[in-house]
Amino acid sequence: MKRRTFLSTTAVASAAAAAPASEAAPEAGMKVATTTRRLNLKHTWTTVMSSSDYRDTFFVEVAKDGLTGAGEGAPIIRYKESAQTCQDAVKAITPWLEQQDPRAFQKVMAGVFRRMEGNWAAKAAVDIALLDWAGQKLGVPVWRLFGLDRTDAPVTTFSIGIDKAEVIRQKVKEAEAFPVLKIKVGLDNDEEVIAAVRSVTRKPLRVDANEGFKSKEQAVEKINWLEKQGVEFIEQPLPASNLEDMNWIRKRVHIPVIADEACLHPADIPRLAPHFDGVNVKIDKCGGLLEGRRMIELARALNLKVMLGCMVSSSVAITAAAQLSPLVDYADLDGFLLISNDPYQGVKVEQGRLVLPDRPGLGLLPRK
Ligand code: MG
Repeated sequence: MKRRTFLSTTAVASAAAAAPASEAAPEAGMKVATTTRRLNLKHTWTTVMSSSDYRDTFFVEVAKDGLTGAGEGAPIIRYKESAQTCQDAVKAITPWLEQQDPRAFQKVMAGVFRRMEGNWAAKAAVDIALLDWAGQKLGVPVWRLFGLDRTDAPVTTFSIGIDKAEVIRQKVKEAEAFPVLKIKVGLDNDEEVIAAVRSVTRKPLRVDANEGFKSKEQAVEKINWLEKQGVEFIEQPLPASNLEDMNWIRKRVHIPVIADEACLHPADIPRLAPHFDGVNVKIDKCGGLLEGRRMIELARALNLKVMLGCMVSSSVAITAAAQLSPLVDYADLDGFLLISNDPYQGVKVEQGRLVLPDRPGLGLLPRK
């Protein structure tokens, strides 16, 4: 908007409290497009839950005024999402969404949440696309829209998937540039996995049990052993629904215990606060950066540590999540480094530290 137009609009608004509906109407509206992309994994990815060679993620583009905002969400089967359900969910609201004004992204997302059942990855993709567009429109990076300083972005861990000892040693060597590694545990071969890692590096480790320990007693025994192996904290030792055993465990261990599978949405955080030392916030699970920021603020208010996690995704979703990383203690934003066909480039990792682009919006560029 030109300065003169802006000034005259404000003058009218303050003098006569012009009807809000007519204020947005002339410039409202955008084009919305959706697609699915198959992202190929560099290594077969194995956790307690699954094993796979690729991931299909869901992309949204919003276009208006010659600018296009890009968003991505990784559908999660556990929450009954697929790239197809996300496509269907966004298509169902597209006639309404295309009438909306993306400058009012917070209002638009409140409308998306009212209209869309589940499909958090689809909500996240829309939220990210709107913020990318809004940042470009205003000529500022998204981290600036949130009032953050990109030099506060933390180190990110690099995840080593469960594998045979020789493959683990190779993966650890490939992760030489990362000062902190994340290791998946919770299977029967934890000792073997950690021994393989420790045979090639002394770096600090963070571990994720993905609900894999069989009992509170086993969890305590494993966590105390892991602490001796140089582990800084552990994610989700027991199933998400088991909160009652968490305090019993925390009285007997010294490293922080972080909720992940138990923590999906802002309303979960006050419920989890008495049982964990911190929470893992994932944009694909909560439905976007606006909701993610809400979770981080709630967690801070309740004195919890905050970790920002991710799914396997392209640079779109990871660069988006990284926009909030100056607010958190721990980042685990390596999902784009695990794939071989990333269509974009955005956030970079230099000696393990996240380096956010200084370009407007997400600051994405097509990968050549
Ligand atoms: Mg986790």
